[in-house]
Amino acid sequence: MDAPVVTLSFDNGPTVGVTDVVLDELARRGITAYFFVVGRPLQRPGARDLLVRARAEGHLVGNHSATHRIALGELADPVAVDAEIDGCEALLDGLRSDPPLFRPFGNGGVLDGRLLGDRAVERLVGGGYTTVLWNSVPHDWDDPDGWVTTALTDVEAHAHTVMVLHDTPGACVARLPELLDRLEARGARFTLDLPGDCLATVAGRLTPVLETLTV
Ligand SMILES: [Zn+2]
Repeated sequence: MDAPVVTLSFDNGPTVGVTDVVLDELARRGITAYFFVVGRPLQRPGARDLLVRARAEGHLVGNHSATHRIALGELADPVAVDAEIDGCEALLDGLRSDPPLFRPFGNGGVLDGRLLGDRAVERLVGGGYTTVLWNSVPHDWDDPDGWVTTALTDVEAHAHTVMVLHDTPGACVARLPELLDRLEARGARFTLDLPGDCLATVAGRLTPVLETLTV
């Protein structure tokens, strides 16, 4: 197989003591990645500084909801959907990229109709968002022994892998160097480009992927 293409993303942070270690590891290797952040941890002391550093080092920062509590498609109240999207976005002044980026909360990574819902789609289109999905969720947060192998298997299964890792305590950070060593040994090319099949909206335009997200 050709050398794999890999886009890394780190979700649910920022976390002081974790995100900084991830940034050190990426910087050492010259890899840039996505950070999909949650409003709540972003409001903790020191957290925003990590994202300022991430942006300065070429990473991209996106909205991963205000509270990360429930899939937007499972929220009946449109006001609550708006609060999840807008509540995080309001904290991203000076950090967001153009177009703004959104990643839905994924119920452990399951791609189905619960991810978004009509109101969320309306909001993401109205806000001109690029909505970034994934094709690899190696479960770094709950499978410490197995996730690196799962990640490498996923990379062999896709021409271009969009991997969801987590810059939260007890997730990928301990074995991230091992994963990156093994991907580099495999000749992986790291990129911020995204494959079309992982995009539900592009700068506010709907893609055919959205139609595949049915319950
Ligand atoms: Zn998440």
